[in-house]
Amino acid sequence: MAGFVALPASEHYWLRGGRAPAALLAEPVPGLAVDDEGLALVDIEVAGPTIARIARAGTAAVGEEAVWLDGGQVWPCFVDLHTHLDKGHIWQRAPNPDGTFAAAVRAVAADRAARWSTDDVFGRMEFGLRCSYAHGTRAVRTHLDSHADQVVVSWPVMRALRLAWAGRVELQAVSLVPLEAFEGRAGERLADAVADAGGVLGGVALMSGAIDGELDRVVALAAERRLDLDFHADESGDSGARALAHIARAILRRGFTGRAVCGHCCSLAVQSPEVVDETLDLVKEAGIAVVTLPMCNLYLQDRATGRTPRWRGVTLIHEMKARAIPVAVASDNCRDPFHGFGDHDMFEVFREATRIAHLDRPYGEWPRAVAATPADVMGLGTVGRLGAGLPADLVLFRGRYWSELLSRPQSDRVVVRGGRPLDAALPDHRELDDLMTPNS
Ligand SMILES: [Zn+2]
Repeated sequence: MAGFVALPASEHYWLRGGRAPAALLAEPVPGLAVDDEGLALVDIEVAGPTIARIARAGTAAVGEEAVWLDGGQVWPCFVDLHTHLDKGHIWQRAPNPDGTFAAAVRAVAADRAARWSTDDVFGRMEFGLRCSYAHGTRAVRTHLDSHADQVVVSWPVMRALRLAWAGRVELQAVSLVPLEAFEGRAGERLADAVADAGGVLGGVALMSGAIDGELDRVVALAAERRLDLDFHADESGDSGARALAHIARAILRRGFTGRAVCGHCCSLAVQSPEVVDETLDLVKEAGIAVVTLPMCNLYLQDRATGRTPRWRGVTLIHEMKARAIPVAVASDNCRDPFHGFGDHDMFEVFREATRIAHLDRPYGEWPRAVAATPADVMGLGTVGRLGAGLPADLVLFRGRYWSELLSRPQSDRVVVRGGRPLDAALPDHRELDDLMTPNS
């Protein structure tokens, strides 16, 4: 679909009369009126690849080159903190037979063993990046299944794609393995491979008698190599799952000073207030950020054939926000056995998160959860916010107010990269047909 506005050919122009979420402004704008939905009418001056100035609407002089946004919202490009590009888009050859988490694990393991060659992983990961880019995402972190046989395939693919996409989509990668994979020499080799690739150290933290020893080991391997940490934690409705608290204690015990983020943390929502308080105190003290994956959680959690789901699966993000724990929202799996849908569209993720987790009334700081907050976790301080001197990497929407914005898919949005309109179409799913021959 064509964009709802056309940008001028000139390198220097104003975006007039846009409506920006105030939470996404990098610094206060003099004289700006913010309405009771947290939105402010602004004029944005673009000079070459950069935002030259953000001012209250009506500042741009008549006669200057300008685009009239008529109140449509202006966002910075999105940041997708938690994805699995290596699993993406295998649904047609490896569907999830019953939609459960256990079946997803089995289906992916079988597909990985049979099919994840360099060409296969490259083709599907690049497809995901092309979707992200076209929808307006600036940076993506992906977890990569890093079992011994796979690490030598998927990490070189990631490095090639990171290089090819630099400047379009910044790509970061995290190792995804059971924590016992970090034991012994094999664990050191994996940590070395992650460090050599400029990655982030991570794994799935599962409750067991060995969890504290395993976490001590992972945190030490990361600290020795100055790597950040990114764990999958408590992706279940099991009230006994408290890996998040164990991770926080390990970080405090070891005095780890890098960045750390935990994904999912679903089980917090089914634990007692005392347990929740204890865990969130630890998370705050340890400086851990949390990334919630509402679409994937809604898909997998509380699923049993023939039974209607009773809970939403998301973690306690309002309680985290109240404690000033950084919370990001991300897309997670796309069209694979862990989530049968998805298009790497962070606008869809924000829209669905708003409905699933009640990010509305008030919207407040929540727009940051798909922009500035994940950018900070990724160490990208100029990304995910609107401000003078920052890159003019923007998404322009026709929707003016929240109810307009979030009621339609905004398929006529205009993505602006480096001050110019992005000319990138969504790839057709048919492009993947050659990779989708059925598993035998
Ligand atoms: Zn994940």
